[in-house]
Amino acid sequence: MPVKVAIVGSGPSGFYTAAALMERSDDVEIDFIERLPTPFGLIRGGVAPDHQTTKKVSRAYEKTALSGPVRFWGNVEIGRDLSLDELRAMYDAVVLAIGSPRDRPLGVPGDDRQGVYGSADFVGWYNGHPDFTDLAPDLNTNNVVVVGNGNVAIDIARVLVKTDAEMADTDIADHAAKAIRAAPLTDVWMIGRRGPVEAKFTNVELREMGKLEEASAIVDPAQLPVTVEGNMSDRDKRLKERNLTTLREFTAQDAAGKPKRVHFAFYTRPVEVLGGARVEGLHCERTKVDAAGRSVGTGAFFDIPCGLLVAAIGYRSDPIDGVPFDMAGGIVVHRDGRIAPGLYAVGWIKRGPSGVIGSNKPDGNQAAAQVLEDSPRGARPGRAALEKLLVVRGVKWVDYPAWQRIDAAEMAAARPGAPRRKFVRVANMLALGQTGAE
Ligand code: NAP
Repeated sequence: MPVKVAIVGSGPSGFYTAAALMERSDDVEIDFIERLPTPFGLIRGGVAPDHQTTKKVSRAYEKTALSGPVRFWGNVEIGRDLSLDELRAMYDAVVLAIGSPRDRPLGVPGDDRQGVYGSADFVGWYNGHPDFTDLAPDLNTNNVVVVGNGNVAIDIARVLVKTDAEMADTDIADHAAKAIRAAPLTDVWMIGRRGPVEAKFTNVELREMGKLEEASAIVDPAQLPVTVEGNMSDRDKRLKERNLTTLREFTAQDAAGKPKRVHFAFYTRPVEVLGGARVEGLHCERTKVDAAGRSVGTGAFFDIPCGLLVAAIGYRSDPIDGVPFDMAGGIVVHRDGRIAPGLYAVGWIKRGPSGVIGSNKPDGNQAAAQVLEDSPRGARPGRAALEKLLVVRGVKWVDYPAWQRIDAAEMAAARPGAPRRKFVRVANMLALGQTGAE
């Protein structure tokens, strides 16, 4: 009897777990439970629309999805259609691969003003995630502040200043492309509470900022240290030096010729979001970095006017009913991925929101080994019981062939040169086919 495994969430960590299970055993039955009608998690909804090469990893996931032991149950939500306890009762093992979908709050006065967004929402909006289709950010402003110095902050700044031509071969959602095209944006301020050496963005992403058609990258040379100091590995030092070199190259660029600017504002801490009902600016404090690498205020304050503010300062997971949760860390409580008998965590809900797509592979390997080591062989009914329950409850699900129809329809509707035109509403996706009780 196969070991019955349910993987909740169909992003990278879920797919690496499924692949690792199949590598280790010929006798597994794997069901993906996904609340959206579409698979691939952050590959579809998080990776920047102009990073299509990165998205190609979904081809490998597709191979996994089409393997004999694997089924996809899209549009099925734990907590809405069935409880986690019910799922656990049906399967030998349940692996939570649900990521970190919520924004960490900025946590300064005024952060609830209109026009202030977290990066999960804002990125979801331009990536056509159905949860954020109606976000409708008002982009009628010259100045945008993006808080954070990670790759997500860079993605947002870049997508906001790229031209239509630069975005032609992307799958940016139509509503976002239209809003950005119409916006009078000229200046994006990327603010980092620490310095260029402490910034989290990686060099490939940083260099892209120097190659934009209409936007110059603006860096204050006085903020760039001559050498990289501090206690770090040789590799980290090399990576930091590479970033410094790139930032120095930006200072040598002629900014005059281009109509837009992305300002790298290091040593800048958000203090208060200014404005009335809407955001009108960010009150900031100049910082320095202490010997322990912390950001420390200097007592010098200044304001950056802006009509839109996006906080790209990291994500957190949602607590799940009945699962121990570390509120401070924003992740589930686990030991090496084991949460409770038959319940495991992989990816960002286990580790927190860091690392690249491939960082999820070791999680998948570890979870697969644990599941096969722990599971009493095939003791639970698995898929047959799930299907029965969904039919009884009148839940209509999207199977993999139905997702392939959605996929094909999106590709067929693409603008010339673009990979796809995304459906941004669940109802439109479901119209292409669902299974379940009539
Ligand atoms: P991140 O890399 O952790 O960056 C978060 C940034 O927010 C840091 O600069 C951090 O500063 C700053 N921050 C945190 N709290 C703050 C606060 N209260 N006030 C001001 N600044 C604050 O997170 P991310 O950009 O969301 O990215 C998440 C993960 O996805 C990362 O591992 C990233 O590399 C990955 N990713 C990769 C790509 C790619 O490879 N192209 C693209 C997107 C995302 P401190 O350092 O001072 O804490």
